[in-house]
Amino acid sequence: MMRLSEPEYSYEQTLDECIAGITGNAALRQKMISSKPELMTLEAQYLGVGCTGDLHTIPCINIDVNADPAVINELKKYELIKVYDQYFVPEQKPAGKIYDALLNAAEEKCPFCGGIGTPQNLDHFLPKAHFPQFSVLPHNLVPACRDCNMDGKADAFATNAEDQIIQPYVDNGRFFLEQWIFATYHLGNDDEPGEFEYFVTPPEGWCEIDKHRVNKHFADFNLARRYTTKAAEFLGTVLQQINSLHQIGLDNETINTVLLQPWIDTAPFVNHWQKSMFQALLLV
Ligand SMILES: [Zn+2]
Repeated sequence: MMRLSEPEYSYEQTLDECIAGITGNAALRQKMISSKPELMTLEAQYLGVGCTGDLHTIPCINIDVNADPAVINELKKYELIKVYDQYFVPEQKPAGKIYDALLNAAEEKCPFCGGIGTPQNLDHFLPKAHFPQFSVLPHNLVPACRDCNMDGKADAFATNAEDQIIQPYVDNGRFFLEQWIFATYHLGNDDEPGEFEYFVTPPEGWCEIDKHRVNKHFADFNLARRYTTKAAEFLGTVLQQINSLHQIGLDNETINTVLLQPWIDTAPFVNHWQKSMFQALLLV
C-alpha cells in the first residue's frame, strides 16, 4: 500500500533496449520488432483499466500455465518470458539498467507490505505465466520483498474486482492517501509488555469493492501478524520512555504531545505500521 512513482523508463525505451540486447536469435529479434506496435497498444490498455481498478478485466492469455500459445502475431508466450529472463534481467544486457532502476526506485521498501521488507527482485503484478504480453512492461514490474513476492504464490491473479490487491503504480490515490490500517493495544498482564492487534477499517464512504480489496491485500500479505511482530520490537523501548516521563511528573496529555504524537505525525505514509501503533498507544 505504498505508492510507487511512475517508472523512469518508458515501455518503448524498455522494448528498444530488450531488442538491442537480443543477440544470436534473429528470429526472436524480428518478431519483437514487428510486435512492438501491438505491445505498445497493450500498455495503453493496461494503464487505462489499471487506474480505474479494472486490471482484472484483462483476459489472461492462457489458463494452462504450461501451454505456449501465440500472443501477438507469431510471438509466443515462452518467447516473451525469454525476453524477460535473458534480455531484461541480466545486468550485462542493455535493458539491465532498467531492471535496476525499477528495483532501486523502491528505496529498499517493499510497496506491498509498506516497507517492512526490502525488495529482492521484481515481481510481475499480472504473472508472466498467464500474462506474457506484460513480461517487460515497467508498470507491471513491482519491486517486492521475499515475503510478499507473488511469483511464489502459484502465479495467482484476481479474476474479479474485489479480489485485486493494491497496484502500487496505477491504483487510485485513495488507497495511499487515506488511512485504512489501524491497531489496538492490548495491555499485558503484570510485567508483560502487551501486544498490538492490527486490522483494516476502510473509510465509510468507499465502495464495497474497494473495502474488500484492502481487506484482501491485508490478508494476502499476512500484514496483521507481520506488523504485530514488528511493533513488538519497538514496544519495550516506548513503554520505558512513557514510564520515565510519568516518573518526572508529566501528565498523559503532555506525554502524548511530546512523545507519541510526533511519531504519528512523522510516519512515512498514512498506512505505515508505526503510525497506527502510536495512535493505539495514545494515553487517555
Ligand atoms: Zn513486502
